[in-house]
Amino acid sequence: MTATILDGKALAKEMRAELAEQTAEFIQDSGVVPCLAAVLVGDDPASEIYVRNKQKACDRTGIESKLHRLPSDTSMDELLTVVNRLNRDDQVHGILVQLPLPEGLDETRILKAVSPMKDVDAFHPENVGLIVQNRPRFLPCTPAGIQQLLLRKNIEIAGAHVMVVGRSDIVGKPMGIILMQRGPGGDATVTVCHSRTKNLPEICREADILVVAIGRAKFVTADMVKPGATVVDVGMNRTEEGLCGDVDFEAVKEVAGAITPVPGGVGPLTITMLLQNTLTAARLQLTS
Ligand code: NAP
Repeated sequence: MTATILDGKALAKEMRAELAEQTAEFIQDSGVVPCLAAVLVGDDPASEIYVRNKQKACDRTGIESKLHRLPSDTSMDELLTVVNRLNRDDQVHGILVQLPLPEGLDETRILKAVSPMKDVDAFHPENVGLIVQNRPRFLPCTPAGIQQLLLRKNIEIAGAHVMVVGRSDIVGKPMGIILMQRGPGGDATVTVCHSRTKNLPEICREADILVVAIGRAKFVTADMVKPGATVVDVGMNRTEEGLCGDVDFEAVKEVAGAITPVPGGVGPLTITMLLQNTLTAARLQLTS
């Protein structure tokens, strides 16, 4: 069997067209242009690319984007001052602090300093709490993009056994939480695995939906996948062969029922959900 390729790039294009329409309607009704401010500290090349892609996507959707570049020797106080200024700026609806921050800067403290109403990455503890309680203000971008992919490609989530490999605050943990919630796009039976999990291959083989977010190139091999399972590869690993995922795509696509490629799978959907959250933030700030 050769798996159906879950084309995240094409789906993201469709979703961004929908969002562009919603944004134009919002601007017409309110006179307000949604605006995302990105804060980039230091000169990490990968972060530069991510921020540039996010800005381009904003521009194409009718969302304004602003970039605040700071040198890598920026102090905590200086960074907090920038974040606080953006918190108070009525023209800014979403704030994104690009991670990772250079060494010496306390990520947890910075992410907590972002106003929860402008926290379009959904990293602030208040927003994480709301997600856990199934009354989200913003959905975390990567997990929400994956949920949309599963829903829009008609992959049955309710009752499915979902295996999430990786327990990061950004992907693994919120992924497990949103798929186990009661209601549409949820109701899965979720297992979360990590580096201390015993018998990982055996557990993976039980998954109807396998989501892999560990940052190890081609870690998941064909023998770890149940025939017909849906495999979602979040990994983005820069190797000598180029960008590759956490899944051995060529081998696994012969076993899986559906699979996301890297690149062109989860990445474009993550950015799309960031745009969605920025529009939501602009709406919320208009009514609050
Ligand atoms: P992270 O913070 O580095 O966490 C990695 C997780 O994987 C940890 O929970 C770790 O377990 C687990 N892990 C590591 N090695 C493992 C192993 N051999 N077996 C089982 N579990 C293992 O990762 P992240 O931020 O979630 O990112 C993961 C990958 O996704 C990276 O390649 C990243 O670039 C990519 N990513 C892509 C997108 C996108 O939009 N496409 C977005 C975010 C991240 P412990 O907790 O036990 O250490």
